[in-house]
Amino acid sequence: MTVRVRTLLGELPRSRWEAICRKCGRCCYEKDRRGRRFVTNWRAPCRFLEESTHRCTVYESRFHACPECRRMTLFHALFAQYLPPECGYVERFRPGRS
Ligand code: SF4
Ligand code: SF4
Repeated sequence: MTVRVRTLLGELPRSRWEAICRKCGRCCYEKDRRGRRFVTNWRAPCRFLEESTHRCTVYESRFHACPECRRMTLFHALFAQYLPPECGYVERFRPGRS
């Protein structure tokens, strides 16, 4: 059965949802709380991030391998402060970005 993800543009198969990711790796760093905001700590990459290629070395099993790894959701796409403007999900779904 195809797993589908609900978006503002209707439902997408998970494979198409994941294809929106540009594999830039910029969400794969620790986030520090600064007051009410979360900011990316660029000196603290996930241990599974290969910084030279921006690739995850455990992508297929990332949620098992890395307890801190979070599945991208529409909520994150819309509101996560740590996602960069160039993130494929931000560009696609955040109001005023398309
Ligand atoms: S495990 Fe998750 S947070 Fe870590 S590099 Fe892979 S996708 Fe990024
Ligand atoms: S910041 Fe966005 S485009 Fe870049 S790896 Fe993370 S989810 Fe994918």
